Amino acid sequence: MAKIQMTTPLVEMDGDEMTRIIWQYIKDELLFPFIDLKTEYYDLGLKYRDETNDQVTFDSAYATKKYGVAVKCATITPNAARVKEYDLKEMWKSPNGTIRAILDGTVFRAPILVKGVEPYVKNWTQPITIARHAYGDVYKASEMIVSGAGKAELVFTAEDGTVTKELIHDFKGPGILQGMHNLNDSIENFARCCFTYAIDTRQPLWFATKDTISKKYDHSFKDIFQEIYDNEYKSKFEELGIEYFYTLIDDAVARVIRSEGGYIWACKNYDGDVMSDMLATAYGSLSMMTSVLVSPDGCFEYEAAHGTVQRHYYRHLEGKATSTNAVATIFAWSGALRKRGELDGNKELSEFADKLEAATIRTIEEGTMTGDLYMISSLEYKESVNTLEFIQAIRTRLM
Ligand code: NAP
Ligand code: MG
Repeated sequence: MAKIQMTTPLVEMDGDEMTRIIWQYIKDELLFPFIDLKTEYYDLGLKYRDETNDQVTFDSAYATKKYGVAVKCATITPNAARVKEYDLKEMWKSPNGTIRAILDGTVFRAPILVKGVEPYVKNWTQPITIARHAYGDVYKASEMIVSGAGKAELVFTAEDGTVTKELIHDFKGPGILQGMHNLNDSIENFARCCFTYAIDTRQPLWFATKDTISKKYDHSFKDIFQEIYDNEYKSKFEELGIEYFYTLIDDAVARVIRSEGGYIWACKNYDGDVMSDMLATAYGSLSMMTSVLVSPDGCFEYEAAHGTVQRHYYRHLEGKATSTNAVATIFAWSGALRKRGELDGNKELSEFADKLEAATIRTIEEGTMTGDLYMISSLEYKESVNTLEFIQAIRTRLM
């Protein structure tokens, strides 16, 4: 069988630990045999990030801006323990954070539904897609430990020298402080990414913040969304019969639990971080969640929503068998290949992505799965296989 040809390369961002092992398995077993794979390779493994003073992360993000489509492996965000473990020059920032800041996009996360893995919330019969704002707030905050009594103020000095002050707190004793920001441009981009994605996927869009308490910060998010909706997207939404709907974050949480799914839930940066993990777990497994960063200028970066699965990696290093679920990483590749195919008018490539996803789902629904799904699957016939065997079982369904 002739291999599928590609015209434009994918930006390939390799990563760390168990997901780095899976990355290579996927390429060897599921991609190289079928595609003449073209990628521009960036090694975001922690060792090479350290060697390049994290330049490689920046380069990979700029390459994504150039080519339009990237696929990313999970990477370690260093903490003190990692600095020691890898003898790092510095506690490098989260690569995802760096890439998101450069692309200024929105992350969309959706569960992969399979027979046998029923959501904990019985009425969720369709996926709920989380749209997470990828810029600012607590992720770009300045923090301070207050050692004793004193006055804390927000101070803004305009370019013309005008000073505006707002009292934060008159401290009588020790405490803590945090200053965060966001940008109208970024919130507008976030809103446009969400409305566009809702139209593309023909799903309603929900948005929620805490505007009753945060009357300027969160309220600005609400106002910007409403204005952009009214001026740019309302008629298209009405034409498609889909709804844009704003509510308070606590009301949204209650409605989400009672809903059937089938919509996009737009969240501020922190809410999206937390709620996507909650939804992934409630849908069955963090390893069954897709994630794509969409930038307002139309760049796409696909990844898995989970981390580098450190505990499994240490078992792997000891020569013990692992049963790590590769589904989210496979769907990162299929998502990127499909989008590349769409942009290049390469139908064969997009169709291969569909086949790869179908084969993956069929493998699980026919009873072959990794340990995490085996534990929760309600299928009558099921077997638990190791990391590589699962990927090979998918391959047999692709031939
Ligand atoms: P994790 O890698 O998501 O794994 C946490 C636990 O979830 C695992 O120990 C495993 O549970 C289960 N799990 C996650 N993915 C799985 C999969 N594909 N198959 C089977 N089980 C899976 O989170 P972590 O261990 O807290 O973080 C490890 C590293 O990942 C950290 O250094 C963190 O910085 C990084 N991280 C990266 C990203 C990213 O690049 N997108 C996101 C999050 C975290 P059991 O051990 O019980 O089997
Ligand atoms: Mg998280």
